[in-house]
Amino acid sequence: MKTDYLIVGQGLAGSLLAWHLIQKGKRVLVVDRDEENTSSKVAAGLMTPVAGARFKLPAGLPERLSFANQFYWDVEERTGQRFFHHKRIARLFRNAEEPIRFQERSEEDPELKKLCAPLALPDDLIDTSQGGFEMKQGGWLDVPAFLECTRQWLLEQASYAIGSVRSEEVKVSLEGIRWKNIEAESVVFAQGWQAADNHFFDWLPMNSAAGDILTVEIPDFDPGGKIINKGKWLLPIGGTLFKIGSNYRHDFESDAPCPQAREDLERHLRELIDRPFKTVKHECAIRPIIRRSQVFAGRHPGHEKVILFNGLGSKGVLNGPWHADRLADHLIEGTPLPDSVDLRSNLI
Ligand SMILES: Cc1cc2nc3c(=O)[nH]c(=O)nc-3n(C[C@H](O)[C@H](O)[C@H](O)COP(=O)(O)OP(=O)(O)OC[C@H]3O[C@@H](n4cnc5c(N)ncnc54)[C@H](O)[C@@H]3O)c2cc1C
Repeated sequence: MKTDYLIVGQGLAGSLLAWHLIQKGKRVLVVDRDEENTSSKVAAGLMTPVAGARFKLPAGLPERLSFANQFYWDVEERTGQRFFHHKRIARLFRNAEEPIRFQERSEEDPELKKLCAPLALPDDLIDTSQGGFEMKQGGWLDVPAFLECTRQWLLEQASYAIGSVRSEEVKVSLEGIRWKNIEAESVVFAQGWQAADNHFFDWLPMNSAAGDILTVEIPDFDPGGKIINKGKWLLPIGGTLFKIGSNYRHDFESDAPCPQAREDLERHLRELIDRPFKTVKHECAIRPIIRRSQVFAGRHPGHEKVILFNGLGSKGVLNGPWHADRLADHLIEGTPLPDSVDLRSNLI
């Protein structure tokens, strides 16, 4: 079988790139291990425009935000599926300094001001005593639903297979690459944290972290459909069910849920809301982090036809569509990748 791009991994990264390459007229085969527990399948899927304690907006945020919104809406329209939910995020201040810093930043940066609205949460249910604000362009990508919809779309065009691609089995020549009976122009590894086992990329400074998420049932609690963020986030997922997370455990042995993390998240929830709740599920997965949550993409320095797309980190839902589009243009047209992202400009 011949294809243009063999994509290894159908997490968020592989899925986003497949959409962009196919929409730009390329043939793609995505091969995925179909594991139950991956970063993308466990991720909360929050799209948080104003993140961090300093309220500093990253360069290019408005463009990436509107690109992501448009991309998910287009895929929903095209597939007739629903997985992207536009939701306000209520950001509660965590200490006495934050409101002062937020006020200063809002005066300095008109973009921040545009993104924010006054807090409007029921204060009999939630501890809003320190104040806060609401982010207007936030949202929730139901990542497992997006992955499944993408998988179905790939299957319809014979562009998906279940399998495990060992990097050592991928033969690279000047003509292209070969894996088993597949011949492709190039191979893109979008393996998340498992890139650590890939002999082409075992030199990357992977700094992956495990993260725990609880699903909780909270009767008689309605924050108006909003996501609440106060150090941890609380995400309404329908009816009386909510997700709460997350943490970063760099010192992990497996993706098994951590009992201490569950206790910490439950304590946090008790401090946040004045309602009884019941934990119904505890999940954990390992996020791919390269350096400080920096996206790494592009061609291998020694192998033109071996490509990486990784490091989406905690802003993968927001930044991923824009980076996937840039990478697709880079592969097809040769347009340069941003220096901060291009693997070849970031050798260790
Ligand atoms: C607890 C938690 C909460 C998070 N919350 C958010 C959030 O709110 N917002 C946000 O934007 N991000 C969040 N993230 C981060 C987000 O999950 C990641 O940025 C993103 O999902 C990474 O996608 P990926 O495709 O790079 O990796 P993965 O999701 O790990 O996907 C890699 C895929 O490749 C497959 N694979 C690996 N090796 C092979 C091989 N050799 N052959 C075939 N297939 C292979 C795997 O099975 C998997 O399907 C969270 C992560 C965690 C763990």
